[in-house]
Amino acid sequence: MAVREILQIPHPVLRQRARKVRAIDDDILRIAYDMVDTMRNASGVGLAANQVGELLRVIVIQLPEEEEARIYINPEITLREGERRVEEGCLSIAGYKGMVTRSLWIRFRALDHTSKVVKLRAEETLSQALEHEVDHLNGILYTDHMEAHEKLVKVEPEDEKVPDLDEGDDSHTDNIEDQPHTSHNPESDLWLPEDDPRNTPATLKLK
Ligand SMILES: [Zn+2]
Repeated sequence: MAVREILQIPHPVLRQRARKVRAIDDDILRIAYDMVDTMRNASGVGLAANQVGELLRVIVIQLPEEEEARIYINPEITLREGERRVEEGCLSIAGYKGMVTRSLWIRFRALDHTSKVVKLRAEETLSQALEHEVDHLNGILYTDHMEAHEKLVKVEPEDEKVPDLDEGDDSHTDNIEDQPHTSHNPESDLWLPEDDPRNTPATLKLK
C-alpha cells in the first residue's frame, strides 16, 4: 500500500471517462488500497481512481465517523431524488470550495472489494460523496455543477482573462443532475482556467 500523488486540474485524466473493471484481481485491489491510503493521508472522505491517474471505475469513501474505508468498484447511481445546496471541495482542486446542488438522497449500487454486490440508499454526506466520486469517473468535477452567478465570485477587476471564463461551461451546467452522465463530453471542455473565478478558497475536504 502506498500514498500516491493526487492529480490536480488541469490534468487531462481528470476529464476522462474511467473504464469498467472487468475482474477484481490483485492489481485492482492494490490500486484501491493505495487510494484508501492516499485519501486518508489527504484527510479526504472520498477519492476516485482518476485522481491517482488510473482510468478505472473504482472509488473509495471513508466518512469521518466511520473506522473502515469503503471500496466500491463499478459504482452506479441508480436513482436521484430531490435537491439540496451544499458546500463542496475536491482534493484535485486543492485550496478551493464552492456551492453546488446535489441530490437529497440516492440509490446506489457497486461491487465491493470481495466482488459482492452492494446496494444502498444514501443521504447526507455519503450521498454527496458518492455523487462527487462517481462524477469523477465520468470526467466531471464539482465546479461543473456551479451556477453562473457563483462563477463570478471573487474575480479581480484587473483580470483580463475574465471574459473567457464562461465559455464552454454553460453547455452542461443546466440540469446536469437529470442527464445521464454518459451524455457529458469531457473532451469539449478540458478544464477550468487556473484563474477561474469558480475557484474560491476551500475548507471542506470532500474530495
Ligand atoms: Zn474530487
